[in-house]
Amino acid sequence: MKLSKGNLFIITAASGAGKTSLVKALIADNPKINVSVSFTTRKPRDGEIEGEDYFFVDENKFKKMSKNDEFLETAKCHGSFYGTSKLTVLEILNKGNDIILEIDYQGAFNIKKIFPEAISIFVIPPSINALEERLNSRGLDSKEDIKLRIAAAKNEMSHLEKFDYVTINDDFEKSLIELNKIVNKKSESRELKTKNQILNHKNLIDKLKK
Ligand code: 5GP
Repeated sequence: MKLSKGNLFIITAASGAGKTSLVKALIADNPKINVSVSFTTRKPRDGEIEGEDYFFVDENKFKKMSKNDEFLETAKCHGSFYGTSKLTVLEILNKGNDIILEIDYQGAFNIKKIFPEAISIFVIPPSINALEERLNSRGLDSKEDIKLRIAAAKNEMSHLEKFDYVTINDDFEKSLIELNKIVNKKSESRELKTKNQILNHKNLIDKLKK
């Protein structure tokens, strides 16, 4: 499908890389950009709001929606289903507005198949230790869960070569500036192109995938 009007941005990260806070700040800087609210079968975490963080549904409802072709893409992550609403995304794009999808790498690849012009961005942590610290300090996951999430993060990051851009979230403000450059299509964002980031941060990127 051709993106004739609005821009579609995909932001992917391993959990704990700081993606959600970055996207919130990015939207505050760019109030005209919309964020797609996904459907999930995962149970809400403390503080999560229905319709704001996710639409929380049971597996039956999710399967029905999937059968009715209501999703642009779906994926299974950490044992739960996640899906992007087709209607919401197409409505926003057709009005000429921009939208961000905060989805995993499988979703990113599926969206790229539908919209080859979508711009995909991978947010990586500055190290595996930093990721572990962030997951610990969130206090949301057990020790076992954290181990699983780190393994999943490494798997997720092994796909970063296929993304258009990479930002390293070692400093929140710096990473936010980089995201702003990308979504506003500034020429300086060239330095953030994945092939350049891989050249400039080879050691880090190799380590994150191991
Ligand atoms: P969490 O449960 O921690 O909010 O999200 C787990 C993972 O699912 C994250 O990588 C998040 O980006 C991804 N995710 C959230 N919504 C969707 C979606 O609609 N589609 C896909 N493919 N992944 C999603």
